[in-house]
Amino acid sequence: MSVRWGLIGASTIARQFMINAIRAQADGEITAVMSSSQERAASYAQENNIPLAVSTLDALLGADIDAVYISTTNELHLEQALAAIKAGKHVLCEKPLALTSADARKMVAAAKAAGVVLGTNHHLRNAGAHRAMHEAIAAGRIGKPVAARVFHSVYLPESLQGWRISKPEAGGGVVLDITVHDADTLRFVLGDDPVEISAFTQSAGMANSGLEDGAMCIWRFKSGVIAQSHEGFTTKFAGTGFEVHGSEGSLFASNVMTQKPVGSVLLRTAQGEQELSFDREDLYTRSLRQFHAAIRGEGQPSATGEDGVWSLTSAEAALQSAKLGKAVAIDPKLGSAA
Ligand code: NDP
Repeated sequence: MSVRWGLIGASTIARQFMINAIRAQADGEITAVMSSSQERAASYAQENNIPLAVSTLDALLGADIDAVYISTTNELHLEQALAAIKAGKHVLCEKPLALTSADARKMVAAAKAAGVVLGTNHHLRNAGAHRAMHEAIAAGRIGKPVAARVFHSVYLPESLQGWRISKPEAGGGVVLDITVHDADTLRFVLGDDPVEISAFTQSAGMANSGLEDGAMCIWRFKSGVIAQSHEGFTTKFAGTGFEVHGSEGSLFASNVMTQKPVGSVLLRTAQGEQELSFDREDLYTRSLRQFHAAIRGEGQPSATGEDGVWSLTSAEAALQSAKLGKAVAIDPKLGSAA
């Protein structure tokens, strides 16, 4: 039986990645797209060969669909997810799940009560590079992990220089956009959870309205690992990377904080250096495959609703830390606390 999808949001990410990822599944079908503008819905539907274009949530949820993919601006995710869950639809929601971790927890609780699958679209867990690092660490190849460094400062393409840099009410800013991904990827690669964060943020000339376009965070994890991460919108030539340093070895991943299945991972130990090989499957296609399996009752989405709560709680704590000028605890059950 196929999974019939309704797209909530006529977005760039759906057009660039998710429509293809759904259609790459043998049992994936896109039935409808919803935009707040009927005109935009119609042209998006036509451009992307989607049979039905609607401009209200009721019309979308009333269509013949089993699941929704939510990729509207961040302030809309909560209400749209709760409505879809109430209608009995499975929900794959973009990050951040909501504007606050308290709201994200409501989404998780609602999905659990309704017995539907809720996933967070943290794509980086699906990257072969990150899975190779996760496996190497879990197999003890670097000994006991001690520290990690994440380089994730990019240049926001002109076409995306809209709500992300000008609308606090839409959940703009680099922390809700990129720090959430770093939180999730650190958790996944290390197999560990953060307990505390300290952050500095900046407005380096691109973001306005009080929003930050750069952040540097220092993290402490349950095991005692410490990490640093750099997120940004304004650096054209920085490149991305992810390193984990352990008692018996270090992992150096380059060009891996990206939407594409690219980059490299080097393992350095007393035995010398070795390039790790990994699969190059499209990240979003893998995410969808796992989501479809979860609908069939086989396992979980690659990033669950709870994972989305973790990443949003971490981002919230980073913003709070930057504001207060001190370290903030991360507790996904309670939110963040100074
Ligand atoms: P876009 O700005 O492309 O789309 C967001 C909303 O903006 C759309 O839902 C649409 O509203 C509106 N919009 C888009 N184009 C126009 C236009 N030409 N005129 C007027 N309104 C327009 O956002 P993104 O695709 O970059 O991001 C959407 C969500 O996905 C966010 O939550 C973001 O955090 C997340 N994201 C996740 C990524 C990942 O890899 N996991 C990568 C990129 C984004 P309407 O639907 O009402 O037409």
